[in-house]
Amino acid sequence: MDIVAHTLWAAAGATVIHRRRPLSRGAVLITLVLAALPDVIHFLPIASWWLFADGTFAALRAYAVAVPGQEPGLPPLVGLLSHHLHCVMHSAPIAGLVTLALWAVRRTLWIPLLGWWSHIVIDVFTHSADYYPVPVLYPFTQRGFDGIAWITPWFIALNYTALAAVAIWLLMSRKRPDRG
Ligand SMILES: [Zn+2]
Repeated sequence: MDIVAHTLWAAAGATVIHRRRPLSRGAVLITLVLAALPDVIHFLPIASWWLFADGTFAALRAYAVAVPGQEPGLPPLVGLLSHHLHCVMHSAPIAGLVTLALWAVRRTLWIPLLGWWSHIVIDVFTHSADYYPVPVLYPFTQRGFDGIAWITPWFIALNYTALAAVAIWLLMSRKRPDRG
């Protein structure tokens, strides 16, 4: 799914959780960052190649909007790093390990991780076999589930309609202070 929708869904989720179990401003912020990060971090090798080596901004931009088979040529190391960073951030086994490790340390679930989990779960179903299937079981396999590609126009329309409906519901169901 696109990064804006990922962040908005995480914001809606954080709002719902906050009503039952108050979250600090920092926790909400980290939740939103973690919901967006899986689609940002794999740009770092390409941005570094542009800023510190002989890469170009045009290649970075082409990579950002690429469709399968139309990706710009990248130096092998840059391409490999970027690919594996994308896989790591979309992997349920890796997110699971991190979740368990933090749980062991904190003795409770670290709520902001749900932002990351929301990204993975949503992406599994909003990518298709021919539109970057999500390597959700990386590093065991890089195969993905054949869902609905989020870039399909009717899906984008439906997704933002659903987000708007949820936002209206959250606003309408907001507790108003008692006027007494
Ligand atoms: Zn993603």
